[in-house]
Amino acid sequence: MADIISSFSNQTKQFLSDKVSQFTESVIREMTRQAMIYGAVNLAQGFPDFAAPAEIKQAARAAIEADVNQYAITWGAKNLRDAIARQMGVWQGIAVDPEKEVTVCCGSTEAMISTLLAVCNAGDEVVIFEPFYENYGPDAVLSGARPRFVKLRPPASDVGEWTFDEKELRRAFDKNTKAIILNTPNNPTGKVFTRAELELIRDLCVEFDVLAITDEIYEHILYDGTEHISMASLEGMRERTVTINGMSKTYGVTGWRVGWAVAPENITNAIRKVHDFLTVGAPAPLQEAGAAALSLPAEYYAKLAEGYRVRRDRLMPTLQAAGFKCFRPRGAYYVMTDVSAFGFADDVEFTKYLVREIGVAAVPGSSFYRDARDGARQVRFAFCKKLETLDAAAKKLGKLTRR
Ligand code: GLN
Repeated sequence: MADIISSFSNQTKQFLSDKVSQFTESVIREMTRQAMIYGAVNLAQGFPDFAAPAEIKQAARAAIEADVNQYAITWGAKNLRDAIARQMGVWQGIAVDPEKEVTVCCGSTEAMISTLLAVCNAGDEVVIFEPFYENYGPDAVLSGARPRFVKLRPPASDVGEWTFDEKELRRAFDKNTKAIILNTPNNPTGKVFTRAELELIRDLCVEFDVLAITDEIYEHILYDGTEHISMASLEGMRERTVTINGMSKTYGVTGWRVGWAVAPENITNAIRKVHDFLTVGAPAPLQEAGAAALSLPAEYYAKLAEGYRVRRDRLMPTLQAAGFKCFRPRGAYYVMTDVSAFGFADDVEFTKYLVREIGVAAVPGSSFYRDARDGARQVRFAFCKKLETLDAAAKKLGKLTRR
């Protein structure tokens, strides 16, 4: 036996798929681990450090107590699907059939990858605005699709908007384009796409027969009077849009893993098949709590957005005083910054220093770009934290010196 082992030892297989070598572990999740190692204030990963609404925690407890403890229907508990369909009507005027068009998944993360696996063939191209939420890169690789990136350009001043070049977007569309992934309100930039921008994207989707896959997880987190518009509400898009959303950000329960995809029946059938064999279903009692969450009154959402606005306006002046150039977010709960003033070699060196020496964890900008050089001057901070957490970070950031 020993002989056999030694004679083959030089030929050991690595056992790994080619796909996994094409992407790294999540930098966002890694920064949370770093924050724990160094005891730093975690402004890296986007999850709240404050309590979730009492009503929905109560609904979760009640569901467990009532023994909703076995598998829900694979594509989602009826109560939750009904609530999702109802609220898409209320919020966006989109009529949804909860029996045929909704798939509840383990978070919007699973909804996105299940959708891509359900629609992409090898060689299909998927258009993605860059900087992008880091999952979309690996999602494309895992589903065999080739990402085509289109730049979102930062504003020249603190109060301007991130924009894209219409011609560059058009150049990204061709006969191989299967889908465009659109995240609005956007992570990491805080951009909220306007109706005019969405119409432009719509026109390209129709012209090139392309599917829009929209990540609308920050739908209710809006500032400065901006409005969230679902792509599926635009004329011509209902039949070519998959709308992804979830409980995580709206109800502050990122660990519950309840998200969903809403799509026309034929696409939903495909998503449901993938979802079934990936995860079977999302946690059953938490789906019941999801139905309760979606029944909260309108005031809940106004308070949610206002709470995050207060946090944004607490963190941004602190960052600016410390030497960061801030790109003011209009939605979601992150602020992208330019860190040129500190004179570090790049964003990764800077965030390492920040977490180890200053005691604040943030996400290096390069993790939102295909080419690390494009994000080398940028760093993202999450402000979905208690005011005292933001104040603790502020105190530490005050120790930074410009070089
Ligand atoms: N969306 C969150 C962020 O960007 C984190 C999501 C996650 O880690 N799954 O920080």
